Amino acid sequence: MRRKIRVYFVESKHLYFTAIFVCLAIGCCLLNLSTSILSSTIREIRGKKVIIDAGHGGFDPGAKSAKGLLEKELNLDVAKRLMRLLSKAGVKVMMIRETDIDFSDRNELFNTKKRRDLYYRIQIANQSDADVLLSIHANSFPQIIYRGAQTFYKLNDENSKLLAECIQNSFNNNLGSTRKARPGDYRILNDINLPGVTIEIGFLSNPQEALLLSDPQYRERVADAIYTGLVNYFAIKD
Ligand SMILES: [Zn+2]
Repeated sequence: MRRKIRVYFVESKHLYFTAIFVCLAIGCCLLNLSTSILSSTIREIRGKKVIIDAGHGGFDPGAKSAKGLLEKELNLDVAKRLMRLLSKAGVKVMMIRETDIDFSDRNELFNTKKRRDLYYRIQIANQSDADVLLSIHANSFPQIIYRGAQTFYKLNDENSKLLAECIQNSFNNNLGSTRKARPGDYRILNDINLPGVTIEIGFLSNPQEALLLSDPQYRERVADAIYTGLVNYFAIKD
C-alpha cells in the first residue's frame, strides 16, 4: 500500500514538473509569437510618413456636447495619442497643430477665418511628402440617436478608400461601431494631393458616446483602433 502511494507520489511529482515544463514552453512560444506579431506590425509601418490634422482649434471649437465637451479638444487629444503610438513604431509623424490654435491669420486669400484656416492646413499637407493624411474630427447631429465612429475618404481615390475601409473595420471590430466607410465631400480631402481620410471619432450629440469620449481610456482605444487600421492599410497596400 505504502509502495503504491510512493509510486503515485513520484508519478504526480513527475506530472507536476512536466506540467511546469509544458506551461513554460507554451509561454515562451506565445511570447515569441506576440513578439514576432509586434515586430511584423512595426515592420509594416516603420519609416512611413503620416500627417495628422487635429480638426478645428483656436477660434473654432467645432461641435459641442450637451455637457460642454469641445470637439477641438477631443480631436487634439486623440491626435496626440495616435502620434505617440505611431512614433513608438518608427513612423514619422507630422502634426498640423499640437496646441489650441487656428491658422486663420496665416494668409489673406479668403474672406472667412474658417476658409483661411483650412487653406493653411491643406497647404501644409500638400507641401509635406507624407504617405497619408488623417484628419481627426467628432460628429454631431440634431437627432441624438446617431452614434458610432466613422471614416470618410477622398472622392475618387482608391488608396483613400482602402485606408478608410481599414480604419472603419478596426472601429467596427474594436469599438463596436456598425458604420461603413463612405466618400466624404470635405474641403481638406478635396484639395489635398495625397491619400487622406476624415475620421469622425463619434457623435458628441449622442449622450452615451459623448460620455465615452470624455474618458481618456476610451480615447486611447480610439487612437489604438486608428493605429491598427493604419497598420492594416500599409500591410495590404505594400
Ligand atoms: Zn469637425
